[in-house]
Order: sequence, then C-alpha cells, then structure tokens
Amino acid sequence: MKNSSSEYEAIIGLEIHAQLLTQSKLFCSCGTNFGEPPNSQVCPICLGHPGVLPVLNEKAVELAIRVALAASTTIRKESIFARKNYFYPDLPKSYQISQYEKPLAENGILEAEVDGEARTIGLKRIHLEEDAGKSFHPEKDEDEQFTFVDLNRCGVPLIEIVTEPDIRSPKEAHSYLLSLKQLLEFLEVCDGNMEKGSLRCDANVSVRLKGEREMGTKSEIKNINSFKGVEKGLSFEIERQIELLKRGERVKQETLLWDPVKEVCLPMRSKEEAHDYRYFPEPDLLPLVISGEMVEEIRKGLPELPNERRKRFIRQYGLPQHDAWLLTSVRSLADYYEAVVSECGDAKTASNWIMTEVLRIVSEKAGDISSCPISSHSLSELILLLKDGTISGKIAKTVFEEMAKTGKGPRSIVEEKGFVQVTDEEQIREFILCVLKENQEIVTEYLGGKSKSFTFLVGQTMKLSKGMANPELVNRILREELSKP
Ligand SMILES: [Zn+2]
Repeated sequence: MKNSSSEYEAIIGLEIHAQLLTQSKLFCSCGTNFGEPPNSQVCPICLGHPGVLPVLNEKAVELAIRVALAASTTIRKESIFARKNYFYPDLPKSYQISQYEKPLAENGILEAEVDGEARTIGLKRIHLEEDAGKSFHPEKDEDEQFTFVDLNRCGVPLIEIVTEPDIRSPKEAHSYLLSLKQLLEFLEVCDGNMEKGSLRCDANVSVRLKGEREMGTKSEIKNINSFKGVEKGLSFEIERQIELLKRGERVKQETLLWDPVKEVCLPMRSKEEAHDYRYFPEPDLLPLVISGEMVEEIRKGLPELPNERRKRFIRQYGLPQHDAWLLTSVRSLADYYEAVVSECGDAKTASNWIMTEVLRIVSEKAGDISSCPISSHSLSELILLLKDGTISGKIAKTVFEEMAKTGKGPRSIVEEKGFVQVTDEEQIREFILCVLKENQEIVTEYLGGKSKSFTFLVGQTMKLSKGMANPELVNRILREELSKP
C-alpha cells in the first residue's frame, strides 16, 4: 500500500472454489473432462429434469475429507445438502446443490509463507457443492445477438473453502492462495489449474483506520481466476475504498467483478446481484453421515503434507528456509530433489542446481518438472563429476546446457567433447608461462601493486586452456610463478 494510505488497514477473507479430481460428477455418472464439445457431458440428473434423483459421488466426499483433515478442521458426523435457489441461464434447474447451515467441516487453519515467514490463517468452513454451467457470447458478428450455454460443468464437484477475515494485504492473499493450491496438489484433490477454472477465488474486502475495532463495510470481488488477479484486484479495491473514506464518503456494500484487461473492479449489474437464495434442505438427498472409521481410513492414506515435508527438508538435509519452501512448492519437484540427493549425496549442491539451472529450463518450457529433459539421475551424475574434479564448475554449466538440448547423459557429453578438466600441474604451468610471456606489461603492473591484474591473468590462462584448467590450481601456480624473483 502507498505511504499516504498507511494509516488504514485492509481486512480480507477469501472463498476458494476447487474442482475435485473425480472421473464423474457430484450426483451422476457424467464425465468431468475439460474442453469436451459443449453439452456432451450432460444427463437428466445434472440438468435436474423432473423425476430424477441425484446420487452422491463417494470419491468426491473422500477428497473433501482429505482437505478437511489436512486443514485440521472439525468434520461433522452429519452434514446436510441444501438447495441454493436462483435463476440464471446457465443453471437449468434453477437451484444449485450446496451445503449451508451444516457444512462438511468447520474451524481449521492453513499455513502460508509471507516474505519467508510462516503465517497462520483461520478457515471458517469447507463444504461440498456442484458447479453451474457457462454462458458465452460468440465473437462472430452474425451471432452477436445470441447467448450460448454449455452445461458440461453443471454438477461438476467442487469444494468451497472459506477463510476467516485474517488476511491483511493483497500479498498475503496471494501467498495464502499459493499455499492452498500447493496443499490441494499434494493431496491429489485438485489440479489447481486457474486457467481451466479448476481453482477460482472470490474475495471480501473492507478497510478501517488502524487501531479501530469495528469492521468497515465490505465489498465482494467475484470470480478471480489468476494469481495476478487476486493481488491486483484487491489492491485496486483497497485503494478505492481508502480514497472514499478519506473524502468522507461511505463504502457501499456491493458485488464487483475484476476486469483483468482494464485492471479495474466493476460493479455487477444490480439485477445479477440481487440474490435471495432461499436455501432449504435438498429433499432428494439423505444427510451425509461420516463415520469415525471412514475418517481414520482416509487419514492413514494421506501423503506427507507440504509443511511437514518442508520442515523435514530443513531437518534432514540442512537446507535454508528459502530452499525448503521452493523445493516443496510442488510435489513432483520435491520428489525430483529427493531422487537427486539420494544418488549424489550432496543436499545443498543439488538444491542450488535445481533452484537455478533446472527451474530456469523448466520455466523456459513453461512446464513443470515433468517436462524437464534432464532426469534426476543425469543431474546427480553431473554433480558427481563436478565433485570428483573430472570437470570444473564452468564446464559443468556447459555440459548442463548440452544435456538440456540433447537429453544425453553428462558422461557421454564429457567424453564426446573431451570436456575433462586439466588437473595436471605441469600442463597448467605451461599455460601460465605462455600467458606471462605474452602479457609482460600486465605482469609489471601487477608487480607494481595493481592487484586486479591477477584476475586478468587467471582469465587469460583459463581462456588458453579452453576453460578446462582447474581454477584452484591455476590460482595457486600463478601466484607461485609471479612470486619467483
Ligand atoms: Zn449428468
């Protein structure tokens, strides 16, 4: 926030919708694949035709319980599905099945990293609900007057995760969302893909003078579907509210939409906003009863969670906080790291290579670690070649680039290109004598007290050896030669 605004603070709460990784929908056997032809994954149940009965998908319940356990919530023995009534073109049955008064789970916590520090954020509730369809307007001129509706998403299983208003800045909101995404991925509950709509976020935000206890009037920003959107949308809205208060005006309670192109929050048309949901218990579904045995069974199957894994990385490998956060940010990356360490036995060197070179290549390919052409085995071999002195650090970088380009192993590259480090002292001395002879002026400068000239002479020797000379030996022998009378 700007300096002029520092007397105010923001109070932020998030509601996140995450699509559960099930084969079929929440109440029928229709598929949930993204990108299928419009209206190809629909049936009378998910369209809510008269006389059909929803049947609850057990897998979705199991996935929701995984999250509930990982977030230390209290799981209700009996939760109730409710009809949330509203009329909208992409909701053919005019109600959405959700949970309301008695949700699946309540009162949990989530840890997020903000500026390298752990921050705990409270979770109000986690509940199951179905998604609605999607309407869109085609861009072709002649079709402009029509609205098209794709109902493939009707009935897709979601969990809604609602935080307490514990978040104090757009940056914190961003970090929280990132931690949650990471947790969902580790749990194999949601793929976390915001572009495909499998993770979406609504934000409540109000501002107040620092030190005040009463909450300001809040507005709600709907349907944010990118990490940038969360941070920018909240920053925009916080500034807007502060400006209003400074001018002595009041903040109106309203629902806004974040426009990622214009980078502004715009009020939703009041007609869209005027919801009176008239919730009532879903008469076609029994209360959801969850037994203690079921919860224990699911608890036993939980993987090591990101926070536990991060702490173990620090303890077991002696890694700094920063490395541990980064390496456990994605489960497959953490697996890759551990595979490299188990083979090369050098935890910090492995971490350095992965955090810089490996992640650079992965980001150039705009993929994840699975798209990396360098296997964990190849990287550990490279580290071993470096450690036993076969190649120098500089050559290792060259070999790495070659590995990335060709997918070949480091040993065959080193052999093919003759990349073996020169550690023969006599050969290095020959390079040095040659350099000294050709640079007598520089030598005189060095002897006259210009210490920078030493670096130059090292550089020339490395160049003459085509980067193959062992740099430590070059330094030592060069000093010897220069100190000779
Ligand atoms: Zn269906």
